[in-house]
Amino acid sequence: MNCIFCGIVSGEVKSQIVYENDDVVAFKDLNPQAPTHLLIIPKKHISRLDEAQDGDAELLGKVLLAARDLAKKFDLKDFRLVTNNGKGAGQTVDHLHFHLMAGRRFLWPAG
Ligand code: AMP
Ligand code: ZN
Repeated sequence: MNCIFCGIVSGEVKSQIVYENDDVVAFKDLNPQAPTHLLIIPKKHISRLDEAQDGDAELLGKVLLAARDLAKKFDLKDFRLVTNNGKGAGQTVDHLHFHLMAGRRFLWPAG
């Protein structure tokens, strides 16, 4: 499998990692869309949220708790957490990831 984010997990692809535990990694987005723009991923390859299994419930919870920890670490009061599921929704990398963005105003509904 040729997955850029699995490459980041294995260390073959260079990235600016800001958080890591046994199950989750977070790193800076290469093309930031906000002053703070991090990507939080499970180390396990799941293509997108609709490919997650019931057995991934604990792992998905850990991803959300990583977002909580990162918000605390970077002192983010207001932030947006987004996952794009499928090309039509803007997904360009087929490894489940959550964008953690902060530092500017965000429109709602999202564009
Ligand atoms: P999405 O469009 O929701 O699939 O988001 C993919 C994100 O991954 C984009 O915001 C890209 O800028 C980012 N990205 C792609 N390759 C890398 C990389 N090697 N390191 C960090 N971020 C990346
Ligand atoms: Zn992957």
